[in-house]
Amino acid sequence: MNRKLCSYILIGLLSGISLSTFGQNLDSVKRKRPNIIFIFSDDHAYQAISAYGSTLAQTPNIDRIANEGVILKNQLVTNSICGPSRATLLTGKYSHKNGFKANENSFNLDQTLFTKELQKTGYHTAWIGKWHLGTLPKEALDYFKILPGQGHYYNPDFIHNNGDTVRHEGYVTDIITSFAKDFIAQQETGKPFFLVVGHKATHREWMPDIRDLGAFDSVNFPVPETFYDDYEGREAAKDQDMTIDKTMVLKYDLKVGQPFKGRYTARQQKALSDYYGGISKEFADKKLKGKELIEWKYQRYLKDYLSTAKSLDRNIGELLDYLDESGLAENTVVIYASDQGFYLGEHGWFDKRFIYEESLKTPFMLRYPGVVKPGSELQNLVLNIDWAPTVLDLAGTDIPDDVQGNSFLPLLLNNQDSVQWRDAGYYHYYEFPQPHRVHPHFGIRTERYKLIRFYGELNNWELFDLQQDPNEIANVVDDRGYSSILKTLKNRLRDLILKYEDKDAEDILRAADEI
Ligand code: CA
Repeated sequence: MNRKLCSYILIGLLSGISLSTFGQNLDSVKRKRPNIIFIFSDDHAYQAISAYGSTLAQTPNIDRIANEGVILKNQLVTNSICGPSRATLLTGKYSHKNGFKANENSFNLDQTLFTKELQKTGYHTAWIGKWHLGTLPKEALDYFKILPGQGHYYNPDFIHNNGDTVRHEGYVTDIITSFAKDFIAQQETGKPFFLVVGHKATHREWMPDIRDLGAFDSVNFPVPETFYDDYEGREAAKDQDMTIDKTMVLKYDLKVGQPFKGRYTARQQKALSDYYGGISKEFADKKLKGKELIEWKYQRYLKDYLSTAKSLDRNIGELLDYLDESGLAENTVVIYASDQGFYLGEHGWFDKRFIYEESLKTPFMLRYPGVVKPGSELQNLVLNIDWAPTVLDLAGTDIPDDVQGNSFLPLLLNNQDSVQWRDAGYYHYYEFPQPHRVHPHFGIRTERYKLIRFYGELNNWELFDLQQDPNEIANVVDDRGYSSILKTLKNRLRDLILKYEDKDAEDILRAADEI
């Protein structure tokens, strides 16, 4: 019997046992010092993952991590864009504390980073793939092989540890997986490692591997309920520049009439030109207008996005298989997360940024054989400031005092009701006006409500009752029926602003006499 089958049977047996039967307390777990692999994708929406109930596509390998571990159903980010999410992962802090508020910022490595804390306790630390923090990791990591900036899907360059930039032939998701396996194979027995596998997928412009071209061509995706949202009562939503209709670019995003010249091999160039040449001809022949045109763009967007995600899922399966085959699976924590959520046509949008549900919530799942009960679900509001302290806790490394998040390991080991945990999450987004004209805002999300304060060119509030209005289309901030809830939420928002020492938000509310 092979090792993989053995581990399936073992996990199957364990899954029938209640969580307490694992007999693990926090101290005994901390002493184990497992390897930790943090698979970190980019813009991968939970709406595209079958473990989260997606009907758009199947993601059997990502689902495997959830099925053999825990899935977080309310994992929120604190600033929904790429670079800031990575800076928060590294620091366990909000953007206003780690200094990386917007993608054009440069990250200051000379601050408390959880990777440096792991190094102090003997972990070998590495980051492979998308980094997107400007400054090279240098002493923050023992090893890196990272994409410059956003990187390329085909034949990407990588910056190696020695500072050299080297082009590697192939498809980016395959190459990152192969580098990750090489790194793992080189590790010394008995010395734990921490590795980020940072995928470029599924970031814009959603360029599939040639083997996945056409994978969803037979599917006609239903448009989301809010696809034709008129944004009534929501000024910022009305003023954004991120619609499939107006912002999505036919040539760049949907590859209509794209020549595929430059960095492609002859084989890649032919496959891409043949496939998208056919799409371009279809587009020219149909002479679409109005709703037909918008919906054609939506169909093409989802087909490219999900085809790109198909390779991501396959590569995660390859990495999980490698851990099984190399005998490392039992003593390795595997985490899967995206840097934030993403719109797949909801409100007519692509991209992220807003505190609204699709970009506020991000997928997160974690497998730790023998410690985390297979098939577990966590409903608690977990923030991405909690990721760094949780990893430190898993590694048995002390959590620095200035980290703003909390380890959620106790939630995984105990009866969830017996652990004190937050019942509201705080959020603050900054990047404006480029590239998508999403007005800066901060806000609070509780289990049932969301209160948002837009500022800068706009100065207004939005309040949503998620129980009555899960799609967030009815701003009830002026509804008298909600006046006492509004008052409570404003007080709670103020308390969080003070707790997290967000001076900018505090000043905005003070200037408007709202605090
Ligand atoms: Ca991202």
